[in-house]
Amino acid sequence: MMHVYALCTGWIELDRASMLSDLAPGQPWTVPVLSFLVDHPRGKLLFDTGVHCQARLDPLTRLGAERVKRLTVKSQAGDDVVPQLARLGVKPGDVRYVANSHLHFDHCGGNEFFPGATFLVQRPELEAARRPGFVPSYSPSPIDFDHPLEYQLIDGEHDVFGDASVVLFPTYGHTPGHQSLLIRAGRDMVVCASDACYTRENMDRDVLPKILWDAAVMHDSLAALRKLRDHTGATMFYGHDPAQWEATPRAPQPVI
Ligand SMILES: [Zn+2]
Repeated sequence: MMHVYALCTGWIELDRASMLSDLAPGQPWTVPVLSFLVDHPRGKLLFDTGVHCQARLDPLTRLGAERVKRLTVKSQAGDDVVPQLARLGVKPGDVRYVANSHLHFDHCGGNEFFPGATFLVQRPELEAARRPGFVPSYSPSPIDFDHPLEYQLIDGEHDVFGDASVVLFPTYGHTPGHQSLLIRAGRDMVVCASDACYTRENMDRDVLPKILWDAAVMHDSLAALRKLRDHTGATMFYGHDPAQWEATPRAPQPVI
């Protein structure tokens, strides 16, 4: 029996117009950062590791001056991924796989806490991250991802446990190798979109955020996700949607 838990692993305040690019700038918005724990009979998979606790205590050192201008970490003590997993009785050593949707600081900040896990990342994502300046408009911080961890590069769709129940799939565009997660449990289908779609409004109104690598590619990924939601009845978890988080069952209650 598989269970899936939604965790909030940080809070960020930024300009709403950075997430919905057709809005007028100047509206501060506080959004959750989500991670998901999939408890499968063959092992536990953590999807994204949230914001590192140092980003709350010393944002300038951790995030750098550019990011600090654009956003404020609003997390409280205990909001980061390790204490959030502890609410489920899960220790970092219990996690077999970590999948990073992408390598922005709020999705891989906690990677270093899982030295025993295998990390599943799309090849173009890690290759771009490891060559700063190689891909224009994408330069994630090595402090978040560049640790002695076992990164397994994946190329496109990846069936994590070999039974089609937990599948990573490419949703490039926000970054060069962004991926989302599809979970099938009986008749339930859940998709964790991560930053391929920040909020329901992005999907419903077909609006991209300002932060992206390739608008045309991201637009195609957004359309594919919308099709999954609207044509197959999948429950869509958006990357940073405050209204959705309000209505989401909190761990230790599972979402499925
Ligand atoms: Zn992102």
